[in-house]
Amino acid sequence: MIDVVVIGGGPAGMSAALVAGRGKNQVLLIDEEKPRNAVTHETHAFLTRDRIKPEDFRKEGRRDLLNYPTISIKNDKILFIEKTLENSFKLTTESRETIQTKNIVLATGVKETLPDVKGIEQYYGNSIFSCPFCDGWEMKDRPLVLIAESIQAIHVAKLLKNWTDDLIVATNGNSVFTAEQKKVLEINNIRLIEESIVELKGTGGELQSIVFENGEENSRSGGFCTTVLDTNFPFVEQLGIEVNEAGFIVTDMMGHTNIKGIYAAGEITGPSQLIVSASQGHMAGAGIIADSCEEAFQEI
Ligand SMILES: Cc1cc2nc3c(=O)[nH]c(=O)nc-3n(C[C@H](O)[C@H](O)[C@H](O)COP(=O)(O)OP(=O)(O)OC[C@H]3O[C@@H](n4cnc5c(N)ncnc54)[C@H](O)[C@@H]3O)c2cc1C
Repeated sequence: MIDVVVIGGGPAGMSAALVAGRGKNQVLLIDEEKPRNAVTHETHAFLTRDRIKPEDFRKEGRRDLLNYPTISIKNDKILFIEKTLENSFKLTTESRETIQTKNIVLATGVKETLPDVKGIEQYYGNSIFSCPFCDGWEMKDRPLVLIAESIQAIHVAKLLKNWTDDLIVATNGNSVFTAEQKKVLEINNIRLIEESIVELKGTGGELQSIVFENGEENSRSGGFCTTVLDTNFPFVEQLGIEVNEAGFIVTDMMGHTNIKGIYAAGEITGPSQLIVSASQGHMAGAGIIADSCEEAFQEI
């Protein structure tokens, strides 16, 4: 039986695997290789890794893991997890392999849906982003748009004012703001356009302008958008794992969920950044070691 199966090979999963493997646990990391940031060309604000390509980050992470004989990696997808009688878990992969383990780290990240704007996928990760902390610097001082279809809009608009003075907010025909919020945008010189967006114009993923339903074409060289995160995590229902009101898995500092032997880290516990996800993975790996040491140690 394997000591730990880590599901998901992003920063959270790789960190958990590294720490658990260094603790002499037999660790298997299983990764479907579909990370949320696959659309982007550069990642930012991870100390010593700033501006690294996402695929290089993963390659280097995997290289670190494979320095340890205790850690192995498999490209596959976990479809089912069953709790077995002997306080362990049976996992089934897409390739129909079954794996028995004592501990699981859920580090599957989160999937997101972009605003309903035709062609936005061409720009997302190139000149339109979702997280100002991740990509605000690269977009600074440009004429920007915030495409905002959801209620986080006012919060993101306030943040973006830090990076540019030339910001418009486009709701794509949706009614997103209260009367008070509209006033706040106005007094902060942020123009609100509630018309539907007909077209995003640009080349090679670089936004140049936005065309609205009333015929207005507004020059913009980039922007941000709010996204909807899909918290319909499959194993949560199968295993009865506690989630918060936003649908993310609830853990303590050491990554414990409410189910013994199941830990969680990274964006499955809430939207974050690479370095935050990596640190949560580290804590989950440490939690597994601490728990197994506690169990094995003889007390008087
Ligand atoms: C456009 C964009 C730009 C970003 N830029 C930055 C940035 O500059 N700096 C920054 O810090 N953050 C950035 N982020 C955020 C960053 O990508 C996330 O915070 C981080 O990837 C979360 O790590 P994670 O390990 O939780 O999940 P992920 O990195 O998403 O990894 C989860 C992994 O689990 C796998 N998986 C899912 N389900 C299964 C399953 N059933 N079986 C096996 N494997 C499975 C997935 O395929 C994936 O490989 C950006 C995000 C986006 C969308």
